[in-house]
Amino acid sequence: MSFTKNPNKNWRIIENVAFVCAFGFIMYNLISTYWRYAYASIKGHGYIGAIIDPLRTHEYYKSFISVMIILNATCILWEILRLIIQLLKQERGNTHDYHKFKRIFKQVSINYKPSFLALLILELLPKLFFIHMFWIWLPHIQKIGLFTINLKWYSWVYAYLCWEFSTWIFHFSSHRVRFLWCLHAPHHAPTELNMTVNWVHFFAESYYSTIVHLLILTPLGVKPVMFVAIMSISSVWGVFTHVSERTLKKGKLGLLQYLLITPAHHRVHHAKNPLYVDTNFATVVPVWDWMFGTLQPYKEEVSADYGLTRDLDVTNFWDLYFGEIIWLYRDVKKAGSIKDKLLYIVMPPGWTPVCSSNTASAMRRDFLKSNPALGITSKNRLMAAIKSLS
Ligand SMILES: [Zn+2]
Ligand SMILES: [Zn+2]
Repeated sequence: MSFTKNPNKNWRIIENVAFVCAFGFIMYNLISTYWRYAYASIKGHGYIGAIIDPLRTHEYYKSFISVMIILNATCILWEILRLIIQLLKQERGNTHDYHKFKRIFKQVSINYKPSFLALLILELLPKLFFIHMFWIWLPHIQKIGLFTINLKWYSWVYAYLCWEFSTWIFHFSSHRVRFLWCLHAPHHAPTELNMTVNWVHFFAESYYSTIVHLLILTPLGVKPVMFVAIMSISSVWGVFTHVSERTLKKGKLGLLQYLLITPAHHRVHHAKNPLYVDTNFATVVPVWDWMFGTLQPYKEEVSADYGLTRDLDVTNFWDLYFGEIIWLYRDVKKAGSIKDKLLYIVMPPGWTPVCSSNTASAMRRDFLKSNPALGITSKNRLMAAIKSLS
């Protein structure tokens, strides 16, 4: 349900003007940066330099990050350009009237308004009101470190597994605690996936995620330099996993699907189908999803239906960004007791004092009762094999 069924018309106009400005500003920056780096590559600098230079100093992960940044920037521009060309083709032959422009604008808004306005807020708000949490918390949290690991290759593997563990904790709790879901829900609101959906995050979410990562990684001995390097790898891969079906139809990446979180895995995470809700919390390596039973492969017979389970017009950015917070406030306000008020804040989304069958885990459990084969993973098969041996 939408909390603003008839949103204020003036507010929608302000949103649309902000979107047009953000679109122009971000596209100008994307294209000019892309062109500048591509041109500098002719002289061995730019993109080429960013890939080759780290190889000389054996910082291979920096080359990988550069390759992913080039791939991501190319795909983001390609996806936007392709959508606009497709819309213009669809409208070819129609008269040049106001409604034609309105239809094109609506489709571009559905695909890009959430991400472009969210990026604008992410860029502006922290700079206006906050200093980045990481640098504030780091010196204090470093004091609780019990030991630090070295920078050998096996330490990097260990550090990466620790990072994925803290990612799983942050992401799982963001789905299972109503207050934290308010910060994470904007990321799940878009009904169309494209690589810019990775930009759709509530501005305060990064502070929560940074604290969780620091509180888990520091006692486990992971150095800040590793934290930053791993976070960069995770970020660039995270952007790629949002690639649209138009760009990469299946997105399973062949044999890599058994080792990595692929676009197909992340499409499952964004889907609201009962089979898919609250699964695939990892960003790069699904080891903890596998361990904790939250891994769900994409099933061809269940096509992904993206977005929130409540009624939401994705072009209503105010509702998309703040809607969950306002619904939580209303539920807390109407709760009859202090206990129920507190439970609304900490219980999973969908929970009410009289009913807990509308939570994502209950919906998935009920679905799997009648369709058990769809939820089977390699872990289930391994456990069954071990059981049959004993
Ligand atoms: Zn999520
Ligand atoms: Zn996502």
